[in-house]
Amino acid sequence: MGVGRDSIRSQVARFTVATVLLALVAAAALAFVTTSQRRQTDMIASSVDSIRLTQVVQQQLLRHLRTGDPNARVQLERDIHRNLGFARTHVATTGEARALDTAESSIADYLRAAHAAATPRNLDAGYRAAAQALDSLIDVNVAQAAGARVRARALDRWSNVIGGMVAVAVVASALGTAWGLQRAFEPVEALSDTMARFGAGESRIRADAHGARELKEMAEGFNQMAGSIVARHENHMAFVAGVAHDVRNTLTATALTLGTIPRRFLREPAVGEPLATVRHQLRTLNRLIGDLMDRAAIEADQLVLTFHDHDLRTIVRAAVEPYTSAATLHPIVTHLPDQPVVVHCDAVRIEQVTSNLIANAVKYSPPGSPIEVTLTDGNGGAILTVRDHGVGIAPADQPRIFDRYVRVGPARERVRGVGLGLFGVRRIVEAHGGRIDVDSTPGKGAQFAVQLGTRSTIATP
Ligand code: ADP
Repeated sequence: MGVGRDSIRSQVARFTVATVLLALVAAAALAFVTTSQRRQTDMIASSVDSIRLTQVVQQQLLRHLRTGDPNARVQLERDIHRNLGFARTHVATTGEARALDTAESSIADYLRAAHAAATPRNLDAGYRAAAQALDSLIDVNVAQAAGARVRARALDRWSNVIGGMVAVAVVASALGTAWGLQRAFEPVEALSDTMARFGAGESRIRADAHGARELKEMAEGFNQMAGSIVARHENHMAFVAGVAHDVRNTLTATALTLGTIPRRFLREPAVGEPLATVRHQLRTLNRLIGDLMDRAAIEADQLVLTFHDHDLRTIVRAAVEPYTSAATLHPIVTHLPDQPVVVHCDAVRIEQVTSNLIANAVKYSPPGSPIEVTLTDGNGGAILTVRDHGVGIAPADQPRIFDRYVRVGPARERVRGVGLGLFGVRRIVEAHGGRIDVDSTPGKGAQFAVQLGTRSTIATP
């Protein structure tokens, strides 16, 4: 089954025709061999019958010569004629027919001489001629049987050769079919893998259009569909980001306007207290709009990063700080090296990554259980780990939690979330050329490790 630009239908048709032809040739060869074998067997059987009948006629002829009883002679003559008639039905070749004719005419000569009451000497000579003719008939049949046996052996060898060839052809055709099917289905497996990865959030992945015509069309159709889904989603997210941006501008303007209210009015409780609440709500709104803009930018694949050299310890301290207040139910234990850990990064985004991991540790572990944030600087770069002692993540779920909208485990029922946090974290880390891994034992906790490249010193701008 060749794989090219052919359609699957024409490949299957070609394969079917080749298989049918192979089956027909094999059947014809086997039919020919078995028919020929049967012919040789018939020939041997018929020669054996002829030999047996001829020997019986020889004995009857001898008894005819020796007996003096006329009645017995008449009976013997009848038997001889009947047996010669049977022998005639077994004649297989013209040579045998000629030998039988000769034997019949010699026997007729002998019987005529016997009826004419010839002298015993004459009778004896006629008998010997008839017996010799019968011997010749036996020789012809023996030669025929021997020839048939030689031909049967040759056919046996041929049938072995044909059987072997058919077996080789069938095995080759089965191997060819398996190979062809494997090659034909390769594009299907690749397409299914691409679809799964696209569904898991790899929005840039596209199918490689190759293989049979229908499969190429399917891959091209998928690529078109994926392209238009991604374009629509990105447009949508870009629109959301634009709206969020405008709303944020309005909020900033509102906050600035509030800032222009003279201080003396603010000292009035009737004005100052509601204004403090409004300011607080504006800050909350500003933060929510900021989160929305972040999400939209990540979703639309429009992450804008501003790279500078930073000491990662400062970023980690800033991310941990909001979680260290007395009101927090989780003690945060931070281990930072004494020396600066210089990373060329977008500080806001890396703080966001750290903060997201700590927020998850808080969400998915019981109140009171400690959370450890550790930063180490080694040859492979900086490694930032966030470790908790919470519900943990099943091994089968661990590779999926970085995909878009994936939430796993029973805790997702009671903990609020949308399954975008780790997706964004991985995007940001990878945009920095780093990587993130998870290690977890269900029921005992989880540890997330972010690896980032480091520099020896902070470059002066
Ligand atoms: P969200 O927290 O909004 O559901 P995330 O993308 O941050 O989304 O996390 C995806 C899933 O990974 C979560 O739903 C949760 O099942 C699992 N997860 C993330 N962090 C932890 C953690 N520290 N412990 C246990 N499960 C976690």
